[in-house]
Amino acid sequence: MMPPTQPSMSLPVPAARQNADPAELAKFAALAHRWWDPASEFKPLHDINPLRLDWIDRVCGGLAGRRVVDVGCGGGILAESMAARGADVVGIDLSEKPLGVAKLHTLESGVRVDYRLVGAEALAREAPASFDVVTCMEMLEHVPDPASTIAACAALAKPGGHVVVSTINRNPKSYLFAIVGAEYLLRLLPRGTHDWGRFLKPAEVARHARHAGLDLAELMGMTYNPLTRVYRLEPDTSVNYLAAFRRPEGAP
Ligand code: SAH
Repeated sequence: MMPPTQPSMSLPVPAARQNADPAELAKFAALAHRWWDPASEFKPLHDINPLRLDWIDRVCGGLAGRRVVDVGCGGGILAESMAARGADVVGIDLSEKPLGVAKLHTLESGVRVDYRLVGAEALAREAPASFDVVTCMEMLEHVPDPASTIAACAALAKPGGHVVVSTINRNPKSYLFAIVGAEYLLRLLPRGTHDWGRFLKPAEVARHARHAGLDLAELMGMTYNPLTRVYRLEPDTSVNYLAAFRRPEGAP
């Protein structure tokens, strides 16, 4: 008798069976070709990048020479900029098109980033405790189970390593600013980019991180002034915010 056929280990796991929402991945795939156009739907990511890059560089004590994984890297705006600062960067995403755009862009820029189509949980199983710095920016609000993503980020970090995330707070003001303001009034983002119900309060992110064995190091708000069109980092975490965590040195 023939043994039952084993599924090939190299077959990608369908998004629906990962901690991923296929509809969310499709949204980013549809726009991916415009990722590096600073006047496109991705303008906000281009505009905030220098701010968050400096913040990450500071909270992790310098990116140069560090091994970094950027979870949900998309077209690579942050991943490339961290590599340009001298980090050895792996960028992962579960949407194929943005990753393709990211790879193409490295040909143009000459910056080296290792892009891979793999989920955070799968990479954490494959390469646990491998990274000095794990970043996961503007992605947690698009996944079905953000606690699982945060646990995977924690598992990817070396003991003593840093985990930096950014997302959007969930309260009436964030509905007004991040949905009504950004998607309808100012049209900074396409309608339907964000689902308010998936936004995360800083206390929720901190709780998930604590359960994953991470210590909160720093919390920082990011604000947008529609009159001056200037983004700033300041203590107000009521809408957009970043959080930095540390995996304890003696972690198993
Ligand atoms: N982190 C990048 C891109 C943010 S856009 C930046 O801040 O510049 C959100 C990205 O998350 C998209 O590229 C989308 O494909 C990705 N994403 C959404 N759900 C995901 C999941 N479950 N696993 C991996 N990537 C995911």
